Order: sequence, then structure tokens, then C-alpha cells
Amino acid sequence: MPTCRAALLSIVLAALCMPAFRPARAQVVAVDIGHTVAAPGATSARGRGEFDFNRELATQVVKALQARGMTVRLINADGNIASLRARPAEAEAEGAVLLISLHHDSVSANELQRWRWNGEVREYNDDHAGHSLFVSRENPELGRSLLCARVIGARLQRLGFTPTHKNARRRPYADAVHAVHFYDGLAVLRHARMPALLFEAGVIRNRDEELLLRDQKRQARMADGIATAVAACLRNGKPAD
Ligand SMILES: [Zn+2]
Repeated sequence: MPTCRAALLSIVLAALCMPAFRPARAQVVAVDIGHTVAAPGATSARGRGEFDFNRELATQVVKALQARGMTVRLINADGNIASLRARPAEAEAEGAVLLISLHHDSVSANELQRWRWNGEVREYNDDHAGHSLFVSRENPELGRSLLCARVIGARLQRLGFTPTHKNARRRPYADAVHAVHFYDGLAVLRHARMPALLFEAGVIRNRDEELLLRDQKRQARMADGIATAVAACLRNGKPAD
């Protein structure tokens, strides 16, 4: 029955040519503001808490990701999150495909020097500057975590940002060129079931870099680099081995 067979074939061909019915859904990226209002993390050369730096950068990263069509969930928006484990738990509840925890770096206590600023004695260190990235080998999505971290590192260097290699003293490299380190025990990364990375934007104990890190135009440029890299890593990239 050639006619019948031809009809069947045309139905099959039509079905194959039709786009699969899949409702368009934006990928959810969770952006975590490191530390809290009550425990603000590191202190800058001028006495400002790390949490405030993290919150400012997060605002810019959220904007840049949204501009690329991604849905963003801000974790710890009010700075009062209950625990470290709550961060990846909230990201998972939101269906996030990536968790980025934003931080700013410091130096060891024995590297601090004193200076006077605004009538107060403050502590600084001008020897180290630059960003770095961290992934955990205890995260089940290490391949994709590492890929996203490397692509962010590469994109930022392309934009003229220089990484720091000071953290290699304590944390082994996952990718030396892009200053990506293994930091297996980090709770926010190892308790995450989706790919996760921690980004240290720069060293706030450095007097010059502190001012650069507060510059909103520079924050926006850094956020733009991060968002470009995240889009590339989530949409096109293949996870590392
Ligand atoms: Zn921190």
C-alpha cells in the first residue's frame, strides 16, 4: 500500500522537522553575597567591611547576568542568612544551574602594616592585588565548576584585570594561568549539588586596590566580564575532565 506508506512517511518527516515542544525557560544563576551584616568578613585598608564590597559587586553581577537573558536569584540579599549551608540550599531550591559566591580578599595578619587614615590607625598591605577563583573537589559538579571558573578568569584577564597568585601559598592550583585554586573544604562549594565557584574580586587591604574595587564603573566592567563568561560556560562549554 504505497499511498498509505507515503502518508505515514510524511507524518514522520513532519514530526521530525517540527521543533521539539519545549517551553523557553531562562537558566537560573544564583549569586551569593559573601558574609553577613553581623560578621562582615575581611576589613579594608580604610576600615570598611568586606560584606559591603560583596554586596556592591553582586548588584552589578545580577544586572549583567539579567542583561544576557539569565534569571538570577540573589542569595543573602539582606545580609542575614542563617548559615553557610543555607546558601547552596537556597540556590538549589531556586533551581540554580550555577552558584557564584562573591568575596573580597585580604592578607595574613603577619603581613599587615599600620597607617593613619581619617584620624584613625588602620592596617594595610600593598604587596598583593588582584582577583582569584576557587572550586571544591568535593562538589559533585567539579568539571562544570572548574570550566566556569577558568572561563571567568580568562575573560577578566582579556579585559585587563590582573589575577593574584598569593593564594597559591595555601591552595593548590586547579589552573595556574587563570588563578583558579582548589579549596575543597569551603562549605558553600562542597555542600552545593550544582556547579559552584567562589570569586575573590581583589585585595581590600591594598590601599590602591581598595579604591579601584569601590569604583562603580570598574565594578560594572568586572561584572560584565563575569556575566559574559558565565553565559559562555553554561551555554556552550564542555565540562573539564
Ligand atoms: Zn570573604
